[in-house]
Parts: sequence; structure tokens; C-alpha cells
Amino acid sequence: MKDLIKINDVEKYYGRGINITKAVNRVNFSVDKGEFTAIMGASGSGKTTLLNMIATIDKVSTGHIYYDNTDITEMNDDEISDFRKENLGFVFQDFNLLDTLTIEENIILAMTLSKKRKSEIKNKIDEISLRLGIDKIRDKFPYEVSGGQKQRCACARAIVNEPKLILADEPTGALDSKSARMLLETFEIMNKELGATILMVTHDVISASYCKRILFLRDGEIFYELIRGEKSRREFLVEILDVLSISGGDISNV
Ligand code: ADP
Ligand code: MG
Repeated sequence: MKDLIKINDVEKYYGRGINITKAVNRVNFSVDKGEFTAIMGASGSGKTTLLNMIATIDKVSTGHIYYDNTDITEMNDDEISDFRKENLGFVFQDFNLLDTLTIEENIILAMTLSKKRKSEIKNKIDEISLRLGIDKIRDKFPYEVSGGQKQRCACARAIVNEPKLILADEPTGALDSKSARMLLETFEIMNKELGATILMVTHDVISASYCKRILFLRDGEIFYELIRGEKSRREFLVEILDVLSISGGDISNV
């Protein structure tokens, strides 16, 4: 199996009997190493539920999720927690930085958890903070920097251990449009230059247009897929809008 992740007939239900909600319905897809994929859909379409199952934060109701050849839906809680630490990086909407630590210390924290050597940690942080444009604010505290800078710090923290997969749930949700654009360009750098595999959930057309592939989710089901190929971001944006309009997805809500 060459896929990094394989999602196999995954479903998630909430409630029971006549009150059952199918938040995720028979979802199948794979992600290869080095892909930058968006899962796009309106509010309530099941994006967070799906991402949390892939992130091992939530359990599937039925189906299987494989990383390389390992079925994470068969793991016990200890195995899951080790797996998550070793293989996944997260970027959350609300940054999740510790206020009492500097930007650099926030990044180091992620690395010391994985028991790396001191010199190795320093070199890695030098490299990543330069690439992500946060080298000048390393000694500042989160409250001293902008939302966009905080989010790039969160990206550095997510990538510093070279996880197999970076997961992001509406990472631009708390940012103004300029900071959002910088974050998406940061994701592009992480993907193109640092080789990161990224899976991002978003309801935002602009955010999705930065990705190489988009899976469209509606009522918990994937109903369409777009591949960017050689298209410019603007051409891809038009294509995304076409999918949303012909699918009856009302854009105002997407
Ligand atoms: P999105 O992230 O696309 O906005 P969610 O995955 O949060 O969508 O939600 C998908 C559906 O599942 C919604 O109908 C939501 O109300 C329902 N849902 C999500 N979490 C829970 C929960 N813990 N209990 C019950 N229903 C839930
Ligand atoms: Mg959500």
C-alpha cells in the first residue's frame, strides 16, 4: 500500500434510534505522502468529525483508518496516544500556544516531548523559524505578537518533529484576510519545501484554492473531488465556485 492514509468506509453516528445523526457517511479516500488536501463543506457537513477520527481524537462508529499499513481503529488508548505523538502535527483555529512561554519555548516544547538532542533542537528551530518568517519574534511572548504570527508559530510547532501528517481544522478561522493569506502561503512552503503532508478542513473557498486537491463534503458524504494540477490558484478558485454552484451548495453558507 503506497498511501500514507487510507480511509475505508468510515462512518460516525451520534445518538440512537430515531434520533440518530449520521455525521459522517461511508467516506472513502486516500492521501499520499506529500499531498496538500482540503476537505471542504458547509457548516455541519461533518468536516470536524471526519478530521477528529483521522486525528485519533475521536473513534469511528464503523470502518477503518490505516496509516501506512497500521489500522489505527484497532489500537488501544495507550497505542493511540503514542501514535499521535510520533506521527501527527496539529494546527488549531485558536493557535493553542502556552501564554507563559516564548514563541521559541512553545516550539521547543513540542520537540522535547520527542526526546531530541539539544544541538539538533537548536538547528531545527533555526531552520524552521527562518523558513516560516518568525525568526525575529522567537523571544517574544504570544501576547506580544499578531494573530498571524501566532498561527505561524503554531505551524512551526506542528512541523518541527517532521510528523507523517499535519492536520488543520479551519486554521484561518480566527485570522484577518492578510494573516490568512500568509498562513496559507506558509502551508504551501511547508508542503513544497519541507515535504509536509497536510490535510486541512475548511469552509472557505480561498483557503481551499491553495491546496492541490479538494474533497467536497455534504451531509457527511464526499460528493466530488477536484485536482488542481497545473492550474493557477485563480483558475482553481473559479473551478471550486463552479462545483459549489452546480452542486446546489448555497455559497452563502459555504
Ligand atoms: P463541521 O465541522 O463541518 O461544521 P461537524 O463535524 O462539527 O461539522 O458536525 C457534523 C454533524 O454532526 C452536525 O450535524 C453536528 O450537529 C453533529 N455533531 C457533531 N458533534 C456532535 C456530538 N458530539 N453530538 C451530537 N451531534 C454532533
Ligand atoms: Mg468544524
